[in-house]
Amino acid sequence: MRKLISWILLTAALMVALFQWQTKKEIYIGAAHILRARLFPCSSPITYSIGTIDPAYNLTPEELASALKEAEAVWENPARRDLFQLIPGSGAVTVTFIYDNRQASLDKLKTLGIATNQSLASYKDLKARYEELTAKVDAEEIRLKGILQRYKQREAAYNARVQRLNRQSTVSNSDAWRIKTEKAGLAMQFEGIQKIERAVNADIDTLNALGTTLNQLIVQLSLNVRQYNREGSSLGTYEEGLYKIHGGIQTIDIYKYTSREQLVSLLAHELGHALGLDHVKDPGSLMYAVSKSSGVNLTPDDLSELNRVCR
Ligand SMILES: [Zn+2]
Repeated sequence: MRKLISWILLTAALMVALFQWQTKKEIYIGAAHILRARLFPCSSPITYSIGTIDPAYNLTPEELASALKEAEAVWENPARRDLFQLIPGSGAVTVTFIYDNRQASLDKLKTLGIATNQSLASYKDLKARYEELTAKVDAEEIRLKGILQRYKQREAAYNARVQRLNRQSTVSNSDAWRIKTEKAGLAMQFEGIQKIERAVNADIDTLNALGTTLNQLIVQLSLNVRQYNREGSSLGTYEEGLYKIHGGIQTIDIYKYTSREQLVSLLAHELGHALGLDHVKDPGSLMYAVSKSSGVNLTPDDLSELNRVCR
């Protein structure tokens, strides 16, 4: 009897373990990958795969794979070994592209013919546009308010006249005609107001895109100015890319890039983190906390960080 109970208990324990393994398999395997990379850095390639790319990026997995290959080479050439390997579907690190207002703002400005890059000149250009458009939107909003107010008065007068006529037993032809033309006039005016509203809203959208992009530049260029916190624009407290470990799973999330060259440098920076590299002090470095340049030339700071990790 005792033996039977022990067998039942053992089977139950095994089943629980199996269940645990099944449900948390990814986490255990992920943790093992991270542990191996930290204990024996650079000894075997870090595997990665391509995850979801938001269609708004208009970037094919093949194009991304080619950019990743270039980003790999940035570290592999000086280390003189294979440090990364693309394994479709089952890499330890997943590279995903998330489309939010960081990229959407850039794309919006692009459709308006406003090109931006991470430079003080770009910041000044956007700032001038932002200020000019703010003045325009403010004036438009005041004008719209006045038009709306006059429309409301006209509408109230019309409604009062209709009510008065409704109380009469007979309505003269001229009164009926006046009511009809006034109604048509109101409808036409309302259409005009909606057109103005749409134009103002389009300008406000542009203003928000300018504000969001300006805020990012303020952070990227470490400018000592206040951020634009107009309702609808986002504050620049974020990155263009992020390497993170969550629940034993490693991901590289990309939020924004302006050119292929800059994408390669961004990917190289995040792959550096996956390798175990930290940020360095020299602002011209690839592993500097805030990405400024789009080049992938390593500085002595980058190289000593690589040597510290790979030894
Ligand atoms: Zn970083």
